[in-house]
Amino acid sequence: MAATFRATFMVTEACNYRCTYCDVRKSLTAAGPKALADAAEFARKNAAGLLSFKFFGGEPTLAWDTVEKFVRDVPELSGRYAIVTNGTTLDGAKCAVLARHFGELRVSVDTEHEFDAERISALMLAHGLGERATYNLVVDPQDVAGAGKRLAGLAALGAQNVNILPVYFTKKWPAESLKAFAEFLKTACALAKAGRVRLVGFQENAGRDASLFNRSVFLDVTARAHYSDLVSTELGASWKKELDLGPAARLALADLDGARIAGLDGVVRAATARLEATCPGQKGLHRMMDYGSTYLNA
Ligand code: SF4
Repeated sequence: MAATFRATFMVTEACNYRCTYCDVRKSLTAAGPKALADAAEFARKNAAGLLSFKFFGGEPTLAWDTVEKFVRDVPELSGRYAIVTNGTTLDGAKCAVLARHFGELRVSVDTEHEFDAERISALMLAHGLGERATYNLVVDPQDVAGAGKRLAGLAALGAQNVNILPVYFTKKWPAESLKAFAEFLKTACALAKAGRVRLVGFQENAGRDASLFNRSVFLDVTARAHYSDLVSTELGASWKKELDLGPAARLALADLDGARIAGLDGVVRAATARLEATCPGQKGLHRMMDYGSTYLNA
């Protein structure tokens, strides 16, 4: 049976935000025509084994022409496309493309920036994207209360999908922030039980040994393939070589057999352990996400 994988393509390293919790590498570099062609070849060749193909950045909507061209050129993956965006440049024209080709849309919401939940929600509704949209709610240890307000705002708009993302590695979690986060989780679970929001992230974030980023095939802006999008970060830059899978255009998912993946998993686990050792509070966060998941499913 063919291997199944999620793939992520960093279409640009540019971003119009500079979130203080963000560790994703940023520059003005964007995927050029050769990278686009190589990534498209990878997608076509491996279409049978790809569960999803996600556009990532930086802010991927800043390279919208690339995204649009890609989905036009590789219709095989229509319905399995995904995107992570801060939502600032979303408009009717982009949402029409998303509605036609995308199965999933992740909109990042934090407390450092203004977030017009009503505008985004209205756009989603108008384009039939409500069910496919999930708000990645970033919880900053310095402003857990602010995240609570954002959550209340989303709940007021009615049954939105919310993925709770406590800032795992780039900030410290003092005891009082962990306590506030426990209360925040309780409120979130109560809202979910009342049907006011849908918490979709617990399944992804709870109980993971590698909490930072996903295990997927990651294509950088040059369309070189890596295992795990850890390499897109400053933190993961030193593992770039270990996680390197070669040029995307030549990579067949079927070649990623169990032994090779097990070896790469070890690199990701070691990286995560090192990160956890330098960021106190991470284990507490994990336990709480596990607890939230158990409580919600009880
Ligand atoms: S978290 Fe996302 S929106 Fe914020 S700076 Fe990083 S890439 Fe940009």
